[in-house]
Amino acid sequence: MDTDVLIVGAGPTGLMLANQLARRGLRAEIVDRHSGPATQTRALGVQARTLEIYEKLGIAKRAVKLGKTGTGANIWAQGRHMARVPLGEAGKAATPYPYILILGQDDNERLMGERLRELGRSVQWNTELVALEQQRDKVTATLKQADGTRRKAVAGWVAGCDGARSAVRELSGITFPGAAYEHVFFVADAELTGTMVPDEVNLYLFREGFHLLFPMRGKNHWRIVGILPPEMRGRDDVAFEEVIPTLRHEAGDELSFKSCSWFSTYRIHHRAAVHFRERRCFLLGDAAHVHSPVGAQGMNTGLQDAYNLGWKLALVIQGRADAALLDSYEGERLPIAQRLLRTTDRGFRLAVSDSRFAGLLRTKILARIAAIAMSQQWIQEFAFRTISQIGIHYRGGPLSQSLGGLPDGAPQAGDRFPWLKLKFKTDGSVEDLFEKLDDTRFNLIVIGQTLPTAARLGLGDLLHAHILPNDPINDQELALVKIPRLAFYLLRPDGHVGLCGTRLEAAKVARYLGERLRLAKPVDVTKLA
Ligand SMILES: Cc1cc2nc3c(=O)[nH]c(=O)nc-3n(C[C@H](O)[C@H](O)[C@H](O)COP(=O)(O)OP(=O)(O)OC[C@H]3O[C@@H](n4cnc5c(N)ncnc54)[C@H](O)[C@@H]3O)c2cc1C
Repeated sequence: MDTDVLIVGAGPTGLMLANQLARRGLRAEIVDRHSGPATQTRALGVQARTLEIYEKLGIAKRAVKLGKTGTGANIWAQGRHMARVPLGEAGKAATPYPYILILGQDDNERLMGERLRELGRSVQWNTELVALEQQRDKVTATLKQADGTRRKAVAGWVAGCDGARSAVRELSGITFPGAAYEHVFFVADAELTGTMVPDEVNLYLFREGFHLLFPMRGKNHWRIVGILPPEMRGRDDVAFEEVIPTLRHEAGDELSFKSCSWFSTYRIHHRAAVHFRERRCFLLGDAAHVHSPVGAQGMNTGLQDAYNLGWKLALVIQGRADAALLDSYEGERLPIAQRLLRTTDRGFRLAVSDSRFAGLLRTKILARIAAIAMSQQWIQEFAFRTISQIGIHYRGGPLSQSLGGLPDGAPQAGDRFPWLKLKFKTDGSVEDLFEKLDDTRFNLIVIGQTLPTAARLGLGDLLHAHILPNDPINDQELALVKIPRLAFYLLRPDGHVGLCGTRLEAAKVARYLGERLRLAKPVDVTKLA
């Protein structure tokens, strides 16, 4: 075997997976057919959940320093400012990153690439996957190199992070149903001044469509996204200057353009692979799902795919879990992709529909509804949780088990465990729970009880236990998220709740680890089972 995992594609998804495997000391080879990192900005919005993962990777500070924090979105209709969606306030209690970070995909890839090099790994550029052959216990890949020669690489597993035209998907015979929207998008990175609220997202709605302006790094730099006017749709030679009149028409004559560093037009597809796994090959990121850019979810969803698969692959390759654990990757991530496709599709159709009714809805009704809705705190919080991806859960998924006894409002199995500030020692100070969680292990949070003795002895190096002392600060913080005074939460390495309940019984934990997680040696707590 040449490598444990062959990662095909060094876009954001592949780089995230390579990092997750490298930090766990696994042998993974990452290849890309391009000659070097992408220079186009492409995706621009980094969501809070991604930043939480970046924190564990050690690149969150660098990302925040490099990017621009978007704390609000402004909705304009026919030249009038209709509503402001305060992104920051709504997420303040929920995440250390209560905003959308405006940071180009190229910068994200650079940060992840640098981190990968710090971990002693690097991308093999000019290396294209051209054939795959699956055997019972390995996959043989044929890679075409820069000089045109081909070499074979034998890997335990293959991760297809190779984008919308994925070779891994095609060579694995996985279909990719869906369609292209009839509308053609344009995207421009430009220097301009105008009515836009500085440093915030500005959405201009009008009868025929919308224009979205994202603030970029530097003074007066904006990313503009919109749909091409119908008369330009069939052309592939449209220049930025040609869309300026429609921009001015809708966003005001005050718009003054200085320069444009990137302009591109593209058609958008909405598709999801029917499976995310074919025996030893996986699909992640755009290889598994593509959708409209509504909500800046694309790149972030690929990063979450990689974070979900990374720890599972590591456990299986290290021989600590049965390969059946890997079935849960599709079980958890496919429904997320399908749900995302449905919601972005609905939002997108409303945003681009040419019908007169949709035009009226956009400019007269939607903007007003948004203005009223966004004055409600719970709607702001719901919107933040959804867009920031911190609300993504695997409830009902194959690895989620709630033992009962917890109130309805408390975190349940499958949820991302909430961000809390807690005391971990009676005489200690208040600490950030997310900083304490070790995402290379399972974390067991024990409330109002001690660990069963045998479990304490036998948790091994796979589990990190956090036994919370009785303390008024802890009571208050836990009450805010409806966690009762007697409870336990077993978190998976990715921070989602695997098993939870009230009274911690070692036998039940052991059963969960063995039956659901398929741990080969469900640590020593089995002695109690
Ligand atoms: C113009 C444009 C604007 C966009 N704007 C946004 C946005 O605002 N917000 C958002 O969230 N998303 C946006 N997206 C989508 C976002 O860019 C993607 O969701 C994201 O790039 C997916 O990352 P990925 O790593 O899965 O795939 P990719 O970034 O496509 O990376 C795939 C990699 O695989 C490599 N590869 C392909 N085939 C092979 C092979 N056979 N062998 C070896 N290597 C191979 C490619 O060279 C590439 O480097 C935009 C996309 C485009 C095109």
